[in-house]
Amino acid sequence: MNHNYDYDLIAIGAGSGGLSVVERAAAYGQKCAVIERGKMGGTCVNVGCVPKKIMWLGANLAQSIEDAASYGFDLGNNGFDWAHLVEKREAYISGINKWYYGYLKELGIDEITGDASFIDEHTVEVNGKQYSANHIAIATGTVPTKADIPGAEHAITSDGFFALESRPDNVAIVGSGYIAVEFAGVLNSLGTNVTLYLRKDHVLREFDSLVSTTLFEELQKSGITLKTNCQIESIAKNDDGLLEVKDNQAHMQTGLDQVIYAIGRKPDHDRLQIENCGVEIDSRGYIPTDLYQNTNQPHIFALGDITGRAPLTPVAIAAGRRLADRLYNGQSDRHLDYENIATVVFSHPPIGTVGMTEEAAVAKYGDTIKIYQTSFTAMYNAISGHAAPTAMKLVCLGKDEKVIGLHIIGPGADEMLQGFAVAIRMGATKRDFDDTVAIHPTSAEELVTMR
Ligand SMILES: Cc1cc2nc3c(=O)[nH]c(=O)nc-3n(C[C@H](O)[C@H](O)[C@H](O)COP(=O)(O)OP(=O)(O)OC[C@H]3O[C@@H](n4cnc5c(N)ncnc54)[C@H](O)[C@@H]3O)c2cc1C
Repeated sequence: MNHNYDYDLIAIGAGSGGLSVVERAAAYGQKCAVIERGKMGGTCVNVGCVPKKIMWLGANLAQSIEDAASYGFDLGNNGFDWAHLVEKREAYISGINKWYYGYLKELGIDEITGDASFIDEHTVEVNGKQYSANHIAIATGTVPTKADIPGAEHAITSDGFFALESRPDNVAIVGSGYIAVEFAGVLNSLGTNVTLYLRKDHVLREFDSLVSTTLFEELQKSGITLKTNCQIESIAKNDDGLLEVKDNQAHMQTGLDQVIYAIGRKPDHDRLQIENCGVEIDSRGYIPTDLYQNTNQPHIFALGDITGRAPLTPVAIAAGRRLADRLYNGQSDRHLDYENIATVVFSHPPIGTVGMTEEAAVAKYGDTIKIYQTSFTAMYNAISGHAAPTAMKLVCLGKDEKVIGLHIIGPGADEMLQGFAVAIRMGATKRDFDDTVAIHPTSAEELVTMR
């Protein structure tokens, strides 16, 4: 401990990144504090992964109830109580919030409530009180955005989605990224009429074309209205409280309960007064870091979404833990490898993807890339008659066919991916996949039997 400072380490933001770095640093005997202006756990726990997954699980159940008749069950569906699910969800989340407070106490980490702003490179101020630290980790995340159009104040974002107390009957969702397609699938499965406004003609444009095209078709088949190359230009609220939108194709859509923007997130450091600590931000407002989470300012580090790289909870957690390993446990080269990060989209059906897309691999390696792919109907869906597709692709490189990309869409893709991500990280080849005896009967076995 450097005795000139109140703490060895202060993390600003008690989300995935901030909590992880102080937790690991405290385990190495460092005196730590974490500053949070909102709820413990940050975006993931309160308005991100956790509530989203609970809604997705509820939506899956709605689909299973429909499928049950095909399996011989005589189930009456007497309706769905949105408020009940939300109450259970929020109780689960407050359990996590409370658990964190206890856990921090147990580890001897001080929790400081309020908005942090920098005084200088070693000092921050919260509610008029100053705290100093040898090291400061900025893990302030991002906030959702809306388009700057007339009537935008009537629209909500993902934060507003999680605040809905009843199920909307009619919604417009704006966006083509993972949050937009996840919300579209959840609401559609739970009985809401959904229109999805896409700026271009596709969803998940950065994903492999096999999964993004399959999802696009599935969204259409599921009854969601897809408006391609279409942007909402204005939103108005009528006397009955319902919304109407006008788009750039001169169409009006009326009778909407909600317009939900899912067009991306942005860093929010309005109150952080980052200029006082000399940390640079880039033109989009993110804090650039090197592989070791170093900013341009010695002693100040940045973690998680605020760095603009791979905005996912496990990435923020891994970066935080590795930073503490490096700073306080002598692991001088410890850093996060940002290659081959597996990711899942909780769409209907879900998507699992790791490594390079076919498009990126061919652009980089040309005809040394070989593609294996398959599509089929999973056994569950063959019986239920609910024609959800499953499609899989392996992107292989060179003579030894090293697997550098793996993409799956279909029921179970979310749970299938993790183990394959380990294999790919270890450099598995197509031959390794072939030599692995299949598990039968599963969908996953197709990944080791592709020809
Ligand atoms: C709808 C949605 C679904 C998602 N689903 C997934 C998913 O399925 N899987 C996945 O891996 N990721 C998912 N994510 C992304 C994931 O939530 C983020 O990548 C993760 O939370 C980033 O962690 P972080 O620590 O960088 O920031 P955050 O978790 O955003 O934490 C930042 C914290 O800093 C606080 N803060 C900001 N400024 C200050 C200040 N000046 N003073 C004090 N406190 C401050 C904020 O209140 C916030 O609590 C989802 C995100 C959203 C929005």
